[in-house]
Amino acid sequence: MTLQLFAHEEFDAHERVVFGFDAETGLRALIAIHSTRLGPSLGGCRMYPYADETAALTDVLRLSRGMSYKAALARLPQGGGKSVIIGDPRADKSSALMRAMGRQVEALGGAYIVAEDSGITVADVRAMAEATGHVSGLAAPGAPGDGDPSPATAEGVYLAMQCCAERVLGADSLLGVGVAIQGAGKVGTLLAGHLARAGARLWISDVHGPSAEACAQATGAEVVPPDAIYDAPAEIFAPCAMGAVLNAGTIPRLQSRVVVGAANNQLARPEDDHRLLDAGVLYAPDYVVNAGGIIDIHYHRSGDYDPGAVRAHLATIPETLARILDTARAEDRPTGEVADALARAVIAGER
Ligand code: NAD
Repeated sequence: MTLQLFAHEEFDAHERVVFGFDAETGLRALIAIHSTRLGPSLGGCRMYPYADETAALTDVLRLSRGMSYKAALARLPQGGGKSVIIGDPRADKSSALMRAMGRQVEALGGAYIVAEDSGITVADVRAMAEATGHVSGLAAPGAPGDGDPSPATAEGVYLAMQCCAERVLGADSLLGVGVAIQGAGKVGTLLAGHLARAGARLWISDVHGPSAEACAQATGAEVVPPDAIYDAPAEIFAPCAMGAVLNAGTIPRLQSRVVVGAANNQLARPEDDHRLLDAGVLYAPDYVVNAGGIIDIHYHRSGDYDPGAVRAHLATIPETLARILDTARAEDRPTGEVADALARAVIAGER
């Protein structure tokens, strides 16, 4: 298949897309900058064994647009960008590879600021930082933690879940509510911890068996095989692994009435937004509910990390979500469509 960029269905007027290669380490990376209208583009780097560069390009374009929308709705002075490294993070990673990625970021002169994403850890970003100053997702001096945004992401998802549970299930807490979590990675495991403490009933799946087992041990969740998570008898489905998991094949199988999770780009196709509405499933738009990570990164980057200010900013996630859900209900429109329109209006300076 011919690799297309300007005619790609996910192109969406990206400002810049870079293909980076490093002969010494074998780095094959793509960096996409969707918009710098509200500030420098910021977004994580994902390492994943994509089948080919077409798959990697589609992913990076969708992810970087999502970052623009996410920053806009979180009211951050940032644009949207993202990068991907083609490779298996469990087998192909090295600090030399990360430094080579840092050099690619450096070459963009600050138009793109890199952070962690799936497959990339704080240690990896530190290795990139040996080659570029345009990194984020590292702790500000004196700030708690190591700068990993995952705890803030998990907290934001949890707050959004409480908001949805109240609206759809009439539940004023998550005690006894069933939640099926797909992906026992950094965010999924932390989210499971919040939910276990709240007394939720949990199901967990991961393609990497030991990760699911470790999460189950820590939280009392029931482990289910990866493909069986859609059939779990839970009120809430929380995608916390990869994108495109809400599609024509999975939506009819969902037992849940609510979808709230950390994964980016959960809808495989725009029409899946309508499919969820028609199926009576409330979809909490992914980039609205998983904004905790970039909010946290913003405060670390400011050099003056105030945990109280971060918490107050995280509390705006369910408020923004509630506004979107109200509009969607009033206008009988899918929630993703309403969120996209609001994000575009903010980027255009209209809201
Ligand atoms: P991670 O790499 O730590 O965890 C992802 C987990 O999902 C891994 O354990 C992996 O084995 C598992 N997985 C992959 N495919 C799966 C499948 N088909 N079924 C079940 N499990 C599967 O990543 P993370 O940082 O926890 O992020 C999870 C998702 O949330 C990603 O989509 C990421 O882009 C998104 N996200 C993360 C953050 C953050 O702060 N970490 C912020 C915003 C969005």
